Amino acid sequence: MSIITVTRDDGIAVVTVDNPPVNTITAAVREALRGALPQLEGARAVVLVCAGSTFFSGADIGEFSGPPKEEEYRALFNAIEALPVPVVAAMHGTVMGGGLEIALACHYRIAAPGTRFAMPEVTLGIIPGAGGTQRMPRLVGVERALELIVGAAPVPAEKALEMGFVDRIAQGDLGAAALDYARELLAGGKGPRRTGEMSVDPATGTEAVLERFRQEAAKRYRGRQAPLTAIEAVRAAMTMPLERGLAYETDLVNRAKATDESRGAVHVFFAERETRRVPGLESAQARPVKSAAIVGAGTMGGGIAICFANAGIPVTIFDTSREALDRGLAAVDATYQSQVQRGRLAPEAKAKRIGLITGSLDYADGKDADVWIEAVFENMDLKKRIFAELDRIAKPGAVLATNTSTLDIDEIATAIGRKSDVIGLHFFSPANVMPLLEVVRTRDTAPEVVRTAMELSRPLRKTPVLSGVCYGFIGNRMMEGYAREAERIVLEGATPRQVDSALEKWGMAMGILAVFDMAGIGVGVSVHTSNADKYPPDPTYYQADFALYEAGRQGQKNGKGYYRYEGRNRIDDPEAIEILRARAKALGVPQRSHTDEEIVERCLFPMINEGLRILDEGIAVRASDVDVVWCAGYGFPRWRGGPMFYGDTVGLDKVLAGMRKYGEQLGEPFGRVHWAPSKLLEQLVAQERKIADWTR
Ligand code: NAD
Repeated sequence: MSIITVTRDDGIAVVTVDNPPVNTITAAVREALRGALPQLEGARAVVLVCAGSTFFSGADIGEFSGPPKEEEYRALFNAIEALPVPVVAAMHGTVMGGGLEIALACHYRIAAPGTRFAMPEVTLGIIPGAGGTQRMPRLVGVERALELIVGAAPVPAEKALEMGFVDRIAQGDLGAAALDYARELLAGGKGPRRTGEMSVDPATGTEAVLERFRQEAAKRYRGRQAPLTAIEAVRAAMTMPLERGLAYETDLVNRAKATDESRGAVHVFFAERETRRVPGLESAQARPVKSAAIVGAGTMGGGIAICFANAGIPVTIFDTSREALDRGLAAVDATYQSQVQRGRLAPEAKAKRIGLITGSLDYADGKDADVWIEAVFENMDLKKRIFAELDRIAKPGAVLATNTSTLDIDEIATAIGRKSDVIGLHFFSPANVMPLLEVVRTRDTAPEVVRTAMELSRPLRKTPVLSGVCYGFIGNRMMEGYAREAERIVLEGATPRQVDSALEKWGMAMGILAVFDMAGIGVGVSVHTSNADKYPPDPTYYQADFALYEAGRQGQKNGKGYYRYEGRNRIDDPEAIEILRARAKALGVPQRSHTDEEIVERCLFPMINEGLRILDEGIAVRASDVDVVWCAGYGFPRWRGGPMFYGDTVGLDKVLAGMRKYGEQLGEPFGRVHWAPSKLLEQLVAQERKIADWTR
């Protein structure tokens, strides 16, 4: 089947592109479009439409690393814009980046209801490079163009219509509506309306407007260049004719592609698409999942149930008492209700989803479930008892999963006969929001069971990463050194604000101490208390958490933790600082001052070091999986590429030197315990290799 077909209807040429799955503008599509241009000769008008689920979803990001393609895009889009008869883009689905840019080069735009538009390039560290920064401001003005290009958020068809880059929303069949629109244009004597020939409304792009966007971008995208570059490109649309503006845009985008920011963001983009590919599992077949059962209607159980219901998979939740069950179901209802109130979910959709969730006190009601997920209290004996029960009740072939964060899943599996069906599915809180899913393979988990988990993550809309069994799996294991140092630094005299600001300025979504306040300081205290044997006997270890907790500070839950809270606003609290000082004094922690650079290095180098141990031990399949865990689950900045990618960016020799330096600074014996460089770090530095070059 050819990618493009051109038909005629009443003298109007209809160009239909069909490049499944999402009509990416690949080299073949560009070539086919170029080839179709001569066939348009003599047409009275042209309609450009795509078959399948969406209009062009965007440019081919796979071509990023190859030679620049901007000039080719530019020539093609200019040729479309230059056509002598009206060209109508008929759009549906998700129209992003290059997909929207081709539509801007058409003369008129009609969209099916429900179409969404976005220019997400800045999230990849670049800017629109196929005319978007030059044509969009000509159509909608500088301010609105900047909202789209710098904001990078999707907008629905109605908003696009209001902004002015969509002319009409189709009623009924999109193809027929586009043809009607073309006929109407012809009847009205309308010719081509070329975006490139328009000029930007100067009132929309004053220096004050540009400055406001620069300042907002500097705040919202701390440390990043692409949003500022995008503002620069849009500004050029005001002063340069189209051709010059396009050449300037190409120059800027090519420079943006060479930055660490873009390399990091593109690395994560591809890394996320790689995680489901597990070596050795190629021939394993996933088992179908048509129904699910969850044991425990608490915070996690409820959130996981929402994921299944959202995917249209019926799910039964079990708990020990009617009261616990009702509480859990009420929390699920409240989550949906708040989405309805915020206009994110239609009341009918809520009713449909709630209808898929059933509560029960009798496990027998789950005997037909294809997958069970246990999410009860974090207690080994309890979990073993539940798995023994599931062994009796679950149907043969059911996947038996646990959501444990810290327990040894190999040991949980000893409770039952069918060990090969047991797996960890580690969701993150809130489970219905956080994209990461650590899929934990025990030594006995069957390949089909791993495959089932990987495939199940698609309808659940999760990014799965495979981990082996170890304490903390990939993410929390790497968190240990990160959090340890942040807490130690406040004991050494830095304020919580100073530590969090250094991390946030570097790019973390939220400083780690503020994260503890949000999660509840009691959570960390209880993990450390019940797993004391897993940690070194350092008397200062996590003592900041303990000191605050013992003084009754639980975090946001009771409005005081590392900070004081007014609503969600973090406010520095001298009382918290005093508690930390007193604890430091009692422990004899020497007081000193810290630069932002030291704070970032001390928090990140142990994280990178532990990531290398995780690779060396075979806990993670590949370095980029570790990056995905941290970007999808822990607010690590995507544009830094994840901790492993960042290790290569700073240089492993620098990481190794830092590990030694900070170890010496802390002194014996814990300098040696906490700061021991991993074997793989030493090896890679000795061989002058990067993590990116390493394979098992
Ligand atoms: P929770 O205390 O909110 O809920 C636990 C629920 O399990 C309660 O409703 C309780 O009544 C129920 N329960 C206890 N024994 C039961 C039994 N025998 N049968 C059925 N139900 C029973 O706990 P949570 O925060 O949802 O955590 C659940 C699991 O998820 C734990 O293993 C935890 O480590 C893990 N986890 C928690 C988080 C988090 O941030 N909360 C994140 C990842 C993983």
